[in-house]
Amino acid sequence: MNYHRYYSIDVVNGPGTRCTLFVAGCVHQCRGCYNKSTWSLNSGCLFTQELEDQIIHDLQNKEIKRQGLSLSGGDPLHPQNVPTILKLVQRVKNECDAKDIWLWTGYKLDELTAQQQAVLAHIDVLIDGKFVQDLADPKLIWRGSSNQVVHHLHQK
Ligand code: SF4
Repeated sequence: MNYHRYYSIDVVNGPGTRCTLFVAGCVHQCRGCYNKSTWSLNSGCLFTQELEDQIIHDLQNKEIKRQGLSLSGGDPLHPQNVPTILKLVQRVKNECDAKDIWLWTGYKLDELTAQQQAVLAHIDVLIDGKFVQDLADPKLIWRGSSNQVVHHLHQK
């Protein structure tokens, strides 16, 4: 998997103070996409074991407490990204105490493959659906257009 940006401290992409990773690769080609440079799987830089370890380390940091991890792009659920994303979210849940994981994807929840659904077992919030320019609304929170849905998964 390749990625474009990693922010070790981020207060924009999700609630609270977070770590945020923007991955490379997206098939959806939404009109008005603000992140076109991430569409190619080969764009950006290689996501290394060192960076995976760094994210875990940052989430475990007790001096600058993060609420969780945000995964965006590009599309973290691009089929070619799923194995790496699955390994990362499993580590976050196993090694980082009480961190939430938010994930943005252009796929709809009800069209995810079994492989993509395996990631959902480990995330807390999924924002799904393509960005539709005609439905764009700057007043929306955590989503760009009104067709997208913020799914709070696994709520007790
Ligand atoms: S899903 Fe997101 S990154 Fe992909 S084309 Fe649409 S807006 Fe851009």
